[in-house]
Amino acid sequence: MTCIVSSGALNSTHSLTINKDPAPTCEHCKCILTIEHILCTCTAYEHNRKQYFPHPQLSHILLHSPKRNIFNYLTDIKLLTKFLRPDIALLC
Ligand SMILES: [Zn+2]
Repeated sequence: MTCIVSSGALNSTHSLTINKDPAPTCEHCKCILTIEHILCTCTAYEHNRKQYFPHPQLSHILLHSPKRNIFNYLTDIKLLTKFLRPDIALLC
């Protein structure tokens, strides 16, 4: 999962780098949607985040959290299916 997140396999980041589309924004906060925002700071997912990440710093999550927690968190907040490229989603 960390590989998927960091490799740009998400639709939003893929589209941004390939097509030069405008940066995607968080539908809740209206700020630029980044992996750090999703995993660490978005207030809309704070309740879900506390269940999976006791230390909500990006480096700690990516280096020390069980990969299953990242996968389950993204599934719970329904962002995994929304932003993951279909060809990658088939591998999960
Ligand atoms: Zn947000």
